[in-house]
Amino acid sequence: MQPPTFPQAHDPRALLRRWRAVARAAGLSWRVLAEVEAATIPLLTRQQAGAAPIYLSAGVHGDEPAAAWGLLLWAERNLPSLRAGSFYICPCLNPHGLRANTRADWRGLDLNRRFHLDEDPVCGPWRRWLSSQQAPVVGACLHEDYDAAGCYVYELGPQRAEIGATCLRAAAAHLPVDQRRSIDGRKAHQGVIRRSRIPQDLPGLPEAVVLWQLGCPRTLTFETPSEAALAVRIEAHVAFLQAMVALHQPPIPS
Ligand SMILES: [Zn+2]
Repeated sequence: MQPPTFPQAHDPRALLRRWRAVARAAGLSWRVLAEVEAATIPLLTRQQAGAAPIYLSAGVHGDEPAAAWGLLLWAERNLPSLRAGSFYICPCLNPHGLRANTRADWRGLDLNRRFHLDEDPVCGPWRRWLSSQQAPVVGACLHEDYDAAGCYVYELGPQRAEIGATCLRAAAAHLPVDQRRSIDGRKAHQGVIRRSRIPQDLPGLPEAVVLWQLGCPRTLTFETPSEAALAVRIEAHVAFLQAMVALHQPPIPS
């Protein structure tokens, strides 16, 4: 359950080998969402009666390795939580980008501007699959940002009962919160950018927005600063997920 060192952090096969072990240990179903250019893009699910599904996703941008490894380490350390709940998990939606250390996918495209497209070979199957399932109660889309001055979160959902700030405080045990008042051109308050509607100025729709369109009432896009140490960034993702899942799951008996 060790975090990866630098070259291994960009090896999607090493990442997915560890996910296979998690799937076996936690009873997650492993399905192939898409096969592109000799790479498998898996989707892991578990459905437990009475537990609302929680959506977790990473690896949309390949030059943001702490997101993908943070999700894995959270899973490896929380097998009882996985066994007790319902989850939809996309561990690595852009394996070519992870291997090449690029934001773009194998076509040179930004996958996170294509989730509205039924014809996309990754986003299309993702859309069709998610549309046929019970909508998740909450979703986390994990990312990193080269311009960030600390961690921050986009929260898309109802104005009341914010949870992004709570999850961000958990991550702040590892990395400072980005205190800028404007992040990525959007108004921010103590690292939280809040949205209750879809922004109109997007060049294409990201995963978190389409997840919300498809019925998930709250999506959190968590970002760590790419220039901090990799192991610390990974721990910040783990802490963020730990807090988010705890808020949506009854306590697990030990
Ligand atoms: Zn990203």
